[in-house]
Amino acid sequence: MSARRPESFESRGRRAPESSGKASAGSESPAGSRIHNSGLMRRPSLMQDPVLVLNATYEPINVTAVRRAMVLLLKGVAQAEEMHNSEVHSAAHAHRVPSVIRLLAYRHIPQQSRALSRKNILLRDRNTCQFCGAIFPSSELTLDHVVPRSRGGRSSWENLVACCYRCNNSKGDRTPEEAGLKLARRPRPFTLHTSRQLMRLIGHRDERWRKYLFY
Ligand SMILES: [Zn+2]
Repeated sequence: MSARRPESFESRGRRAPESSGKASAGSESPAGSRIHNSGLMRRPSLMQDPVLVLNATYEPINVTAVRRAMVLLLKGVAQAEEMHNSEVHSAAHAHRVPSVIRLLAYRHIPQQSRALSRKNILLRDRNTCQFCGAIFPSSELTLDHVVPRSRGGRSSWENLVACCYRCNNSKGDRTPEEAGLKLARRPRPFTLHTSRQLMRLIGHRDERWRKYLFY
């Protein structure tokens, strides 16, 4: 039998440092999430589908990816409240794909805006390149400094946007105006309000989310 490399669900893609305000239980040891993923890797799009995360009190607090949600379920940190009809298959098992999960322990969510991280910027911009408007998987997006760092642009919610590699290359070390590019919308901090709006927006696609979001 060929050697399979055990790999964490989360080990793909770069992870920006996150500090506070996240609801997706990111502090567990990575050793707990090792899963043989040969089969799970075949449908990356499904594994990146959004899953609604509820607090222990059923309050919607976050949106995460199927991949991450399944790690939380396997670790016993969360339980599934609603399931998709689809399944993912690992070497030995079929796993039903969650649509809504609920954390088993109550998590205090600070009211301040979320941590500035790659993950949260892609979430805010809904994986949409802010210059060409196309939607990409996270791995095909980078962060663009609207005002380049070389020109004094800072790493802030207002100056960082999701950007595809093509637009990023063509923009280079220039401002959008200089490069003849136009921002889809003005980048703003990701507040709890943004988060709720986003959850509702995504929720329109999934009937199973409705009772948790539209009350
Ligand atoms: Zn683009």
